[in-house]
Amino acid sequence: MADLICRGMVIRTVDYRDNDRILTLFTAESGRVDAKARNCRKATSPLLGCTQPFTYGEYQLFYHKNKYIIDQGEVLESFYPLREDVEKYAAASLCASLCLEGIQAEERNEDIFSLLYHTLSFLTYGDSDPGDLTAAFLIRFLALSGFRPAITQCAACGRDLREDPVIRFLPDKGGAVCAACSPVGRKIGRTALEAMRRMLLLSDDQLFRVKLKEPLRAELLSHLVPYAKLYLPGIEKAAALFTSLHMPPGSAEQE
Ligand SMILES: [Zn+2]
Repeated sequence: MADLICRGMVIRTVDYRDNDRILTLFTAESGRVDAKARNCRKATSPLLGCTQPFTYGEYQLFYHKNKYIIDQGEVLESFYPLREDVEKYAAASLCASLCLEGIQAEERNEDIFSLLYHTLSFLTYGDSDPGDLTAAFLIRFLALSGFRPAITQCAACGRDLREDPVIRFLPDKGGAVCAACSPVGRKIGRTALEAMRRMLLLSDDQLFRVKLKEPLRAELLSHLVPYAKLYLPGIEKAAALFTSLHMPPGSAEQE
């Protein structure tokens, strides 16, 4: 009998020795689970498939010397195309690294699991722009993990911002801020704030409906990625890869 049987997604892999790998699984029921997979990188290993990045699988784990060891695994969904397309890979990596940073061990989190599962599904098999899906993932992840930015009300004074001609988006203040509370800082358009608000209202299976025009997509990402990095600094590396591919310099002019 295994000590733990769980379904989860591989959100991090760390290789060690010649053929071994440590996986971090994100499970809906038990949050983060770290587990060793021995010899899984050998071409003949039965664990080869289920230990690949982004794979969703069912795993049988043994507890040995304070660590979980993967005994058996079955691939339920490989999300294989994510590993063949660098733009999709960068988007998936940013989503996975947010989960890695924001999810605790032994903490049930069905909402964020569902968000990640649907986002990777649309990224893999849909025709959505990876930047659109990432923008939607970011705002929804931030809201679900307790870092929701202020969108319709000033983060400093609480006033309704929706008719204001000048609004700024300041990560260290907690999001949108009125001109009276902050006379300096990067501005954000009302359309971008409205897009954030609407993306929070969708259900996960409707994420494919997010279709942004290029300047708006760039504006949203240029606010949300730095915001997420401030509160979850561990995403830095994945954010840098994503930024280099999806946010070319000048794509969202600073004011
Ligand atoms: Zn204010």
